[in-house]
Amino acid sequence: MRLLSHLPAFFLLLHLPLSLAYTPLSDHSLTHLAPSLSIHTSSLVPDHDFDPVHGALLAPILRPRVPGTEGHARVQEHFAAFVRAHLHPSWRVEWHNTTATTPATGSEPVPFRNLILRRDPPWRTPAQAGGPGKGEGHVARLTLAAHYDSLYRPEGFVGAVDSAVPCALLLYVARAVDAALTRKWEGRTVEDAALEDEDEVDKGVQILLLDGEEAWVKWTDEDSLYGSRALAEAWENTAYEPGSRFSTPLEAISLFVLLDLLGAPQPTIPSYFPKTHWAYRSLGSVEARLRKLGLLETKPRTPFLADSAKESVQFQGYVLDDHIPFMKRGVDVLHVIPTPFPAVWHTMQDDGEHLDLPTIRDWARIMTGFVAEWMDLEGYLPEPETGPTSGTGEKDEL
Ligand SMILES: [Zn+2]
Repeated sequence: MRLLSHLPAFFLLLHLPLSLAYTPLSDHSLTHLAPSLSIHTSSLVPDHDFDPVHGALLAPILRPRVPGTEGHARVQEHFAAFVRAHLHPSWRVEWHNTTATTPATGSEPVPFRNLILRRDPPWRTPAQAGGPGKGEGHVARLTLAAHYDSLYRPEGFVGAVDSAVPCALLLYVARAVDAALTRKWEGRTVEDAALEDEDEVDKGVQILLLDGEEAWVKWTDEDSLYGSRALAEAWENTAYEPGSRFSTPLEAISLFVLLDLLGAPQPTIPSYFPKTHWAYRSLGSVEARLRKLGLLETKPRTPFLADSAKESVQFQGYVLDDHIPFMKRGVDVLHVIPTPFPAVWHTMQDDGEHLDLPTIRDWARIMTGFVAEWMDLEGYLPEPETGPTSGTGEKDEL
């Protein structure tokens, strides 16, 4: 009893000094969040990013990618090539490599590789931070995660909603907010940052493309979550330099947002955790505002994030997924996964043909808006391209 009564106070002390501003975007900024609606409603051109056959972000992931196989390696190459081609050079790319045996593969160890993409404010990156206690241990990171491995059986399983689409969405979001982050952080130093917002913690963003989420034979604590279990443990045991605001990379996670099973039509995402219902509501408010502004393509009977109408939620149970090893260690989690699961879940029908592109593009818009608000990018989002126009309606249609 005593221990329990002390717990809330302890958590309060731990969390109070973290002043995390969250700045809603103006209607103007929301309107200019890509992907632009007009492109997709008035043309027969395949979706540039998310078309299952031609889309530059998604198509390369839509293949069997069982850890240790050729398809798995090709998807890793796709991620690395995407970062080189589309993200600012200050993104740090880190592979977290482990091996483990699985019940399906005997004594031969299987390689698991988590990919960590991280962008911190430039005055907190190791090369420029200068001096003890001024480096990366001071950055609270919004952490966006999805798993990229696919099921071992049935053979040939592609896992489009599970979780190729969530991975493609995270790449999309990184690219969509990247230029605004550059503009926001350009030319600022650690001294400027300290002067401007004394109590505010520096915010970074990281994307985790996790490996080995799937069970190889049957879901157990040992046969599942190979990548996320190894990463959470490693981060718990990595100490930042003394004097840092956070003691480990695990503690530096401000919110762990896990996307899974997205891309099927009519998703219903419950708010799973009372503790992060506020963050769920922020995400739901982005959805509601985009809908009101006519900026989403889907017209569902209920919003994707229908629980955001509720002031609070009761804990009703949760889905076992990559957040578990982090949540067990005290990390705040927002789990963006539908209940019920899409009908195609863990069947051969979970492929490109069964995806709903308007739903995927709406997720891209909603997630981009949420990340832009979290990172306080109001005023830094790109203006729409204003190239020379002919003044004729037909030409604009192209
Ligand atoms: Zn799965």
